[in-house]
Order: sequence, then C-alpha cells, then structure tokens
Amino acid sequence: MAAFKTLDDLGDISGKRVLVRVDLNVPVSDGKVGDTTRIERVLPTLNELSNKRAKIILLAHFGRPKGAVNPAMSLEPVVASVAELTGRPAAFASDCIGETAASAIAGLADGGILVLENTRFHPGEESNDDAFADQLAALGDIYVNDAFSAAHRAHASTEAIARRLPAYAGRAMHAELEALEAALGNPKHPVVAVVGGAKVSSKIDLLANLIEKVDALVIGGGMANTFLAARGVRVGKSLYEPDLAETARQIMTQAAASNTAIILPTDAVVAKAFEAGAENRTVTLDQVADDEMILDGGEKTTAIINAWIDDAATLVWNGPLGAFEIPPFDRATVAAAQHAAERTKAGKLKSIAGGGDTVAALNHAGAGDDFSYVSTAGGAFLEWMEGKPLPGVEVLRRG
Ligand code: AMP
Repeated sequence: MAAFKTLDDLGDISGKRVLVRVDLNVPVSDGKVGDTTRIERVLPTLNELSNKRAKIILLAHFGRPKGAVNPAMSLEPVVASVAELTGRPAAFASDCIGETAASAIAGLADGGILVLENTRFHPGEESNDDAFADQLAALGDIYVNDAFSAAHRAHASTEAIARRLPAYAGRAMHAELEALEAALGNPKHPVVAVVGGAKVSSKIDLLANLIEKVDALVIGGGMANTFLAARGVRVGKSLYEPDLAETARQIMTQAAASNTAIILPTDAVVAKAFEAGAENRTVTLDQVADDEMILDGGEKTTAIINAWIDDAATLVWNGPLGAFEIPPFDRATVAAAQHAAERTKAGKLKSIAGGGDTVAALNHAGAGDDFSYVSTAGGAFLEWMEGKPLPGVEVLRRG
C-alpha cells in the first residue's frame, strides 16, 4: 500500500464536490495560453474524477500577486485550455472563496469542472491562514492535491486545507512521489547522483543530503570548479566560488566518511570567451591557463561518468555538466544524458531527473523522454533532493 492516500482510496464520489489543487502556471501572453504541459500533467486526475461524476473545483495560484487582486494574474485565460484539453465544459468563478465561488459550485453539473480565481489574490493563501483555509474547505467535500510543484510551500491551498478535508494525492502527484521514492527513498543500489549547474552555494544542502544516500556523486558544471580549486587546481577565469572552498572540502571529507565516491572532472573544455562557437581546447586539469575558463567536461571525464552510469541501478540527476546552452560546451551534458537514456531504454537503469535547468538540458540532448521520470517541479524537486519534508506532501501521508 502506498504511504500516501491516493485516488485509489476514494470510494463513490458521484455528486461530491472535490477541490483539486493543480499547477496552472502556464505561460500566458495577450490572454492566450502558450505551452500547456502543466495542464496536460493533471488530465489523468481531472478525467478520472469527471468520469466518476464528481464536481471538480480547481484551486491554483498564478504568478506572484502577493495577496492582492491583480487582473494581469487572473486564471480566467486558462479556462478555455482546461476545457479544450479535457474535452469537457469548464466554468470560471472570479473569486476562490465566499458567495461567488459557492454559487458557481451550486451551478456545477456532476462531472463538470470549475476553475476558481487565483488563490494568491488573498493574503491568507501564502500565510497558510486558518480562517482562509476554512473558507476554502467549506467549498468541498474532498481535497485532492495534484500539484507537487507547489508542495514545498505550506500555503492554505496546499497544507491547511488538507488538514480540514479528507485529502488525497492526485495521479500526477502520485507518479511523482513514486518516482522520488524509487530514486532516494528506497532505491535499488548502486545509486549514482549527477549534480551539475553553476554554483555550489545554491546546492550545499542538496550535496550534504545526497552524500548520505548515494553510492557515488558525480560533480560537474561550474560547481565542479569550486571543488577543483579547493583541491588546488588552478581554474583560471572559470566561474567558481573561492569562499566555498572550505565547504567543498567538508563535503569531500563527509563523503569519505560515508563511503561515497566523489567523481570530479579529470579534463575540461576551456575557452577564453563565454560565447557560442568560441575557440576552445580540451586540456588536462593542470593545463588551464590563467585567461581561460572551464566551460565543459572533456571526453575523458565523460567516459568516466558514463562508466559510473553503467554501474548504476539508479541515477538521480540535477544540473548540466557544462554551459550547455552555448555549443560546443554542451557535449558532456549531451553525451552523459544520452548514455543514461540508452541504459534506461535497455531496462538497466532507473533514471530520475529534475530541478532548474535540468529539464531543458535533457531535452536539448533529446534524452528527456527516455528517462524513467523527469520532474518539472523545480523548487519542490530540489527541496526533496535536499531531504526536506514537503508540507503539502506530509499532510497526505496515511495516519
Ligand atoms: P543551475 O541553475 O545551478 O543548475 O545552473 C545551470 C547553469 O549553469 C546553466 O546555465 C549552465 O550554463 C551553467 N554552467 C554549467 N557549467 C558551467 C561552467 N563550467 N561555467 C559557467 N557556467 C556553467
């Protein structure tokens, strides 16, 4: 049995009012929705609840209106996309609480969908206010959270409400929790983590948590430069954080104590300019000139990373291995991502990735679709990788 209550635990919900917390932060410009990926992710939940004849009431935030009504951050433009993608009529209520919301719900047919206005138009949302949560909860009989991406925040529509109504994880949340459990909760070993990206400073907690859980930690990208410098490598003009040399050393000491291998680059692609197509060369680490920057891992480094991926049963990936947006400094990221995708396709590897630029990097490599799971949750995924309890997930745990 899953550790969390899911839609599998719902009984007969015909005619019941189900408040569903979703992530509708799709790009909108001139009143038109662009990429609809986030809406698509919640379709299984919406369709299942609608087929079971529930009255579906969507709760979501949109942008950062900071507790005040801001028409530019209305959810109204999203309603047409919800209707189109579900193939069902969808209505809109211009407030998420009170008489406006209640009368719209009273007019909702069984199986119908209603989108409530931006929860963050009320200050009680972000302060997780009890009175505001009471008003939200009064609108429904059941609460379903299908917005993992908002679960790291204790807000009224993600946390307080779940303590007031029978609360369940929707299908997208359920899939995310299962993937995360398979990655770090109860993974098949050996577990290899690949962590790249720009800076150590934004990933200290993440590295500290991973070191306790994984068998090997591959460090790449700009953040590897800080580790290399801490080991005495001259990194020239590379992006690195001299202030974090001591932190990097502590992480390496902690890794040795927990028997976790740390894999750093052994060669690098360097250039004098941070721009696409810049003249570049691949060097061993003792050859980085004072006016050069390390912008990518070299072929030897990539081969070593791929060999670790070959040995892994589980791979957790966050962050690119180089400045992947400016070719040719995308090669290490692309090669390792493609290798992980191949191993996954061959059934040899469970691969879970997410956070920040990772989704873009994997898609750039054409590898995203072949990973076992790619989280688009951003901040929530990172906090989970840091080992922090997520308030919106904790409230869905079985008693
Ligand atoms: P993050 O958001 O921390 O995952 O960092 C992602 C960013 O790190 C991307 O924009 C990459 O271009 C950048 N990055 C990765 N490796 C390097 C590097 N060696 N030098 C400069 N930037 C890098």
